[in-house]
Amino acid sequence: MFEFLMPFSSYLIFIFGAMLGSFSNVVIFRWPRKESIVFPGSRCPNCQHPIRFYDNIPLLSWFILRGKCRDCGHKFSSRYAMVELLMAVLFVLVWNTHGVSWTTLEYLILVFGLVTASFIDIDHFLLPDVLTFPGTLIGLVGAYFNPERSFLDSLMGFLFGFGFLWVIAYFYQVWRKQEGMGGGDIKLLGWIGAVLGWKVIPFVIVVASIFGSVLGLALAKKSERGLKTVIPFGPYLALGSLIFVCGGENLAFQYLRWFIPEL
Ligand SMILES: [Zn+2]
Repeated sequence: MFEFLMPFSSYLIFIFGAMLGSFSNVVIFRWPRKESIVFPGSRCPNCQHPIRFYDNIPLLSWFILRGKCRDCGHKFSSRYAMVELLMAVLFVLVWNTHGVSWTTLEYLILVFGLVTASFIDIDHFLLPDVLTFPGTLIGLVGAYFNPERSFLDSLMGFLFGFGFLWVIAYFYQVWRKQEGMGGGDIKLLGWIGAVLGWKVIPFVIVVASIFGSVLGLALAKKSERGLKTVIPFGPYLALGSLIFVCGGENLAFQYLRWFIPEL
């Protein structure tokens, strides 16, 4: 019935992704401040003028107004547009990889959750339970109903992801007598495992470790606090998962087959 839309599907998904990116910006900014996600509408942080509905079009408004408030000329952070663009591009990649399927729907929910959680983690060193708990639940319940996924795989993914980081955190604490891995990271990897299955966990950990150490060292070099700079690990775990759902599936399993050829 909607076949006539298929040639435009990537564009429609792009627009849908940009809109959810815009919503994600609201959650990233307001949720940690315990403000309502719905009311009031967006305002300029400088002059407090409500942002007009026609100035609130994802991506487009940012380019038309060159990232400035129409009333006072206050410059908005370019990150708002970046998050919208990122979400839109990720949505298109998931769509082009997995097409019309329940898996696509579940992966889009995961993408929205991971991007939102990552930026909250970057800003506040915090991975909200309000994202990780429902995300994990959707991962497990979705696997039960979705014929393309297996519930056992999802449950093992949750246990493997959660358990792996829990064990690392436990031994780190015993060894160094201080907390190294946040509880949020543990729950995040449990969530990722519940949606993507246990086989994805090693890939996600390797990607996160590589990017985490390279970027972590670069950031530490720039900062005066040196290696003591605290870096949130959540965004790197999210990055590994996003590479997987956006077409990196073969890469991930190829890598795993080096270690376990029977898979
Ligand atoms: Zn203003």
